[in-house]
Amino acid sequence: MSRTQRHLEEAERWSASNYRPLPVVLERGEGVWLWDVEGRRYLDMLSSYSALNQGHRHPAIVAAAQAQLGRLTLTSRAFHNDQTGPFLRELCELAGYEKALPMNTGAEAVETAIKLVRKWGYERKGVAAGRAEIVVCEGNFHGRTTTIVGFSTVSQYRRGFGPFTPGFKLIPYADADALEAAITEHTVGFLVEPIQGEGGVVVPPSGYLRRVAEICRERGVALIADEVQTGLGRTGRLFAWEWEGVRPDVILLGKALGGGIYPVSAVLADAEYMDAFAPGDHGSTFGGNPLAAAVGRAALRVIVEEELWRRADELGCWFMDRLQALASPHVEQVRGRGLLVGVVIKESSGPARRFCEALLERGILAKETHEQVIRFAPPLIITRDELEGALAAIGAVLRGP
Ligand SMILES: *Cc1c(COP(=O)(O)O)cnc(C)c1O
Repeated sequence: MSRTQRHLEEAERWSASNYRPLPVVLERGEGVWLWDVEGRRYLDMLSSYSALNQGHRHPAIVAAAQAQLGRLTLTSRAFHNDQTGPFLRELCELAGYEKALPMNTGAEAVETAIKLVRKWGYERKGVAAGRAEIVVCEGNFHGRTTTIVGFSTVSQYRRGFGPFTPGFKLIPYADADALEAAITEHTVGFLVEPIQGEGGVVVPPSGYLRRVAEICRERGVALIADEVQTGLGRTGRLFAWEWEGVRPDVILLGKALGGGIYPVSAVLADAEYMDAFAPGDHGSTFGGNPLAAAVGRAALRVIVEEELWRRADELGCWFMDRLQALASPHVEQVRGRGLLVGVVIKESSGPARRFCEALLERGILAKETHEQVIRFAPPLIITRDELEGALAAIGAVLRGP
């Protein structure tokens, strides 16, 4: 039995079956490359759903983590430590917000924002007790907690997991008029992804985000941008909202904030919102711990020093043009922004998964999102030559049978 086979059988025997991974067993990563237990090399075109914008084991981030491991790793927020303050200051200065609240996962950042804008709504807007509403979009992905899946429109994410938290109102994505119509005296927030990543790399028409920001400002509703996947350079700007020159009231970061090493997430907002929280209102044992803060600081430094958004912008346009030019009979559409790219496979060509399996055979790691979309989201440190190599393999697969 091959080493791969042994690992697959072991994982299948002992793991809960909440995932269906591609049959590859990885043991080493560096930059944009991964190696499996047989010594085969793969190009990572998923980047752990954009958590690896800086690539695998970026030397500066590894060094920061190692240095911090040798000093102090966990204090809880019962005490101060010398990393959390600098991390939050650097994060706020970079993003242009007054305050930040550190958590661990993206879903926790979303949950934090839900609590925050509800409390803000009751205290500052005078919303009637227990009536606060948050508007969300069809096709959303904000994480997997019971509250969050309660407002998912993917039936599998909900089926069997109710009862769900009330207080959310669904509207179509990319429809600003629907937002305007959905807002009532009870509405405290609008939670939206600038581009729907898990939803299939859905890019709203230009002008949507600006219009949504205007509506929220006019109606006194907090605009909450979930930039967990689109933020930190992925779409060709530091934050995807910059494409339309708007500034959300609350932004949510995660994934690449941990530099591919450690889970780090955060909610950013001005004091007007953040001051709704008083001591004891919210917390997390690990949120903002010294190791997370040191890793987060290094993760941000790499993004800024290497101007990763610029690479995503330049290479993304070129990559999408080249994908279009493949003129594959299986492809319905190529869409995306920066290095967040979706290739929509025609229904008649079968589900996207078989193409991902064929790409795996050719040394490219990519994963379908929903049934029909292959997502290409390599580390932003990728070079044009490396992408050129990927295009050869992608072309062979997409022009094949
Ligand atoms: C991945 C993701 C989340 C959830 O992040 P986790 O760290 O998996 O909890 C939330 N929002 C968006 C837009 C995401 O892509």
